[in-house]
Amino acid sequence: MTRCIICDSDRLLIWLRLGEQKVLRCRDCDYAFRYPIPSQEELDSYMLASYKGEGLEETKDIFAHCGKGYGDDPIIKEYQETLARLGYYTDGRHLLDVGCGPGTFLDLARHSGWSVLGIDSCPSACAFAEKEFGLQVLNIQFEEAAPWPTPFDVITMWDFLEHVLNPAVVLTKANDKLKNQGLLFLALPNRRSLIYDLAEVLIKARLPLLRDQAQKLFHFSHISYFSMVSLQNLLQRTGFEIIEEHSMNPYLGRYQIPWYSKGFLQLVFNLAKLLKAQSRLWVIARKDKGLLNV
Ligand SMILES: [Zn+2]
Repeated sequence: MTRCIICDSDRLLIWLRLGEQKVLRCRDCDYAFRYPIPSQEELDSYMLASYKGEGLEETKDIFAHCGKGYGDDPIIKEYQETLARLGYYTDGRHLLDVGCGPGTFLDLARHSGWSVLGIDSCPSACAFAEKEFGLQVLNIQFEEAAPWPTPFDVITMWDFLEHVLNPAVVLTKANDKLKNQGLLFLALPNRRSLIYDLAEVLIKARLPLLRDQAQKLFHFSHISYFSMVSLQNLLQRTGFEIIEEHSMNPYLGRYQIPWYSKGFLQLVFNLAKLLKAQSRLWVIARKDKGLLNV
């Protein structure tokens, strides 16, 4: 019998059907996940294709513009504001970015006085980060990372946790790699948001054209679909205490989508802001001493 990856409950519902695949939701901890879960090899080849611009047409431009010439757009401002918040909560400046991709965030962090290290399982992303920014980046799976001589003050994971096979294993590892009272930062999609509610309705309505558009929110490399409740539950189980949490809208500027789709999405995001149902979760948590059983 299939059980919840996070709390081991067998009280699972089928939330959505995506062709051959399903998204299951746990009634006990609100965690939702793709089923059957893809293999690590399938995920790695999907991420490599995305990085090369062979994945979603809509995200091609994001991967093409992540070098030194990055603009002063809202994504960069979000990186800088996050560094400022992390700096407010800790005096330490030793930072690990897990799933660092091409290294834009790490480059900004280094220029703000942080001592940085990156990890990414995609070899092309690592090669880019080293060549473009001269960054130290390890091409390994975080779960398999060997011990470091000194633990980190801060571990950041931008749009990473939703892609991993077992988020509980990853956060337990993060807890292990942090100093006492060290900080974990997470940014990831929010399943309990207006855009996901709308996508759910369109997928269930079985109108082929709209359903195909809505299914793009559930692309293959996303294993987990978190709500703030399920993320709080996971953080508590893996030894973290949340000290700051927000939801926010994504920046649409770098997505290659037609103007009318962009206009429609902007309308949905404006409404989501009013309803406090925005589609990205932004969380800073502090390492707590006690680990509950995962
Ligand atoms: Zn559960």
